Amino acid sequence: MLIAGNWKMNKSGSETAEFCSSLKRRVDALAGRVDISVFPPFTSLAAAVTGLADSEIAVGAQNVHWEREGAFTGEVSAPMLRELGVYAAIVGHSERRQYFGETDETTARRVAAALEAGLFVIACVGELETERDAEETEDVLRRQVSVLSEDDRLVVAYEPCWAIGTGRTATPDQAREAHALIKSLLDVPVLYGGSVTPGNAEELLGQEGVDGALVGGASLDLDSFAAICELAASSS
Ligand code: PEP
Repeated sequence: MLIAGNWKMNKSGSETAEFCSSLKRRVDALAGRVDISVFPPFTSLAAAVTGLADSEIAVGAQNVHWEREGAFTGEVSAPMLRELGVYAAIVGHSERRQYFGETDETTARRVAAALEAGLFVIACVGELETERDAEETEDVLRRQVSVLSEDDRLVVAYEPCWAIGTGRTATPDQAREAHALIKSLLDVPVLYGGSVTPGNAEELLGQEGVDGALVGGASLDLDSFAAICELAASSS
């Protein structure tokens, strides 16, 4: 099981240092039963890498560019992340797709460059609510997954857009169905994401084909994130 905390645009460097020092005390004993990683904003990555250096908790970035360097204002490359001690990147998150024009094509380029540079990647897929209502979920997932290729360092996160930050989650049936479809297309671990909390984690993580969770809001709170990690450790 893998539990990944996507902090989005939250926690400054000093807040990150404080959080990481408490987090490792709380969850390091779970090492070996669950893989835990956190994805702070770019400006807090160094603090997280330093703060978690003597722990089993890994640090990832929330995005990565496909070029190694050059005239790409505002972007950060995979070799830059590697040099910092970052081990992974989230790519194609629905907020990147919705607010920043990320497409299947740019997602594919970012994933390929990150893997090539030696990073692990969590590639996000998931349908909009209108797409689910129109019974297009399968087509959307097939299209989003079609640009990815199997790799030992690739993980997919199934995140129905209507469940992200809304307090709504996929039903166990919806999650099982989506994970089975993704796994039939690509033989990689698949995380569930979308309003995972300590209250619903056990049921979601218990579904066939669910290999862990990408946790947004609940990963910002130490007690909530630690509780989800503990549930994952006991369900694996
Ligand atoms: C996410 O940001 O990937 C996410 C799933 O957010 P939340 O848990 O807040 O829905």
